[in-house]
Amino acid sequence: MTQSQIDSLRAQRLEPALHVVDGRRVPASDGGTMPVVSPIDGRQLTTCARSTRADADAAIAAARRAFDDGRWSGLAPAARRKVLLKWADLIEARALEIAVLGVRENGTEIGMALKAEPLSAAATLRYYAEAIDKLSGEIAPTDPAFLGLVHREPVGVVGAIVPWNFPLMIGAWKIAPALAAGCTMVLKPAETACLTLLRLAELGLEAGLPPGVFNVVTGEGTVVGAAIAESMQVDVLAFTGSGATGRRLVEAAARSNLKRVYLELGGKSPNIVFADAPDLDEAAKVAAHAIFRNSGQVCIAGSRILVERSIHKGFVEKLAAHAAAIKVGDPLDLATQAGAVNSERQLHRNLAFVAEARAAGRQVIGGARILQETGGYYMSPAIVADAEPGDRVFREEVFGPVVTVTPFDTEAEAVALANATDYGLAAAVWTANLSRAHRMVRAIRAGLVHVNTYGGSDLTVPLGGVGQSGNGHDKSLHAFDKFLNLKTAWVKL
Ligand code: ADP
Repeated sequence: MTQSQIDSLRAQRLEPALHVVDGRRVPASDGGTMPVVSPIDGRQLTTCARSTRADADAAIAAARRAFDDGRWSGLAPAARRKVLLKWADLIEARALEIAVLGVRENGTEIGMALKAEPLSAAATLRYYAEAIDKLSGEIAPTDPAFLGLVHREPVGVVGAIVPWNFPLMIGAWKIAPALAAGCTMVLKPAETACLTLLRLAELGLEAGLPPGVFNVVTGEGTVVGAAIAESMQVDVLAFTGSGATGRRLVEAAARSNLKRVYLELGGKSPNIVFADAPDLDEAAKVAAHAIFRNSGQVCIAGSRILVERSIHKGFVEKLAAHAAAIKVGDPLDLATQAGAVNSERQLHRNLAFVAEARAAGRQVIGGARILQETGGYYMSPAIVADAEPGDRVFREEVFGPVVTVTPFDTEAEAVALANATDYGLAAAVWTANLSRAHRMVRAIRAGLVHVNTYGGSDLTVPLGGVGQSGNGHDKSLHAFDKFLNLKTAWVKL
């Protein structure tokens, strides 16, 4: 990847994006479109289809037909594998083009986007494609007069609703295990990140996915997302996004067909630094990157630093130095380490959290709108150095480059502060004391606890939250559980 390759890709003019339904690229039935605005400069890039409820229902019907007639679920697993592997190859061959397209739309720095988006989606497709013919059913250890067979069957039509921060990576965490398992899917991208998922769907058709197996419908959450959530034809809903939307999806499932709803709802993840951390410089550097890369728009971001009081002041200084060294700016510049905030709305939300902390008398370092002359949405990293547990910025997910630092005195107090949240997605503990590290892993309520590191866990381990961070797991072989039903055959011999 060179700067000149990126610059020539960023100059490409984009055609209006159509949605991909039943093997075809089609506009909204009433011709409706939505502007796609780039957070890099605030300018309109193109438009995408603003689907109606009828369009969403048509896509769901296509996925239903494709599931029920067995054109995909009825194939041998090895045949599905072949298509998914080809799909991964096509994505990888166009990785830079797809990554640049995504960055133009959502503002993630290109270095991270290339790895986390097309390359990670390709790797995810390969992982589940390779796994699907290695899963077997069971023969239960029953009374020998009977035979108890446990089959694993695809659940049917999956509705996926995904966010704007890592649309391909998060999308692929749902697409790959669902399709490998034999399900079909209707996916709704976020309003501000639909182009790469549409590209993915086009490449899927090129790879040989039968029509209707993977459909992408763009439009508003309250229209297209709601239609998927309320549909009687969708068997499982797989969602990543906000808690408020998650609640609506559960309600919609209850009102309709009791479809299973899997939710990944973000977090307010504690990053706990003890004075005996093996390397406090490293801890401060990683802590800065754990919240400020991609301008904090990461569901597992380490947004609450808890630090032992004896090192609080020194740690804040180190953190501030690392934060100041992070290069914020044009996400398509290879030197940039933190790109744009996804939308103007999100930028103002982030700044409001900072202003509120300042007004409450907290010590706030950074946190200003910058590069306004570009027309884009950029913000310098913000550190609230003495946040209190009652502060809104300590309790609510900002989803921006804003971190709180709060001192603690004892291990028990660190645990209490860490768990003083409705969320429970990720956490980290920095200590050289092995026993303490394992005690903390047990005591912290979260789906993922890092020890002496933050982020970077791979596809082989599950990611899922507890509490109001959601339920179910993306990644790892456990992700299949969402998309495969168990069926028992009980046979008298
Ligand atoms: P964020 O605040 O990060 O944008 P959302 O939960 O609003 O988080 O968005 C995540 C996804 O949920 C997006 O694809 C969005 O369009 C969709 N969405 C938003 N509102 C609804 C809704 N009422 N029903 C279904 N999907 C929705």
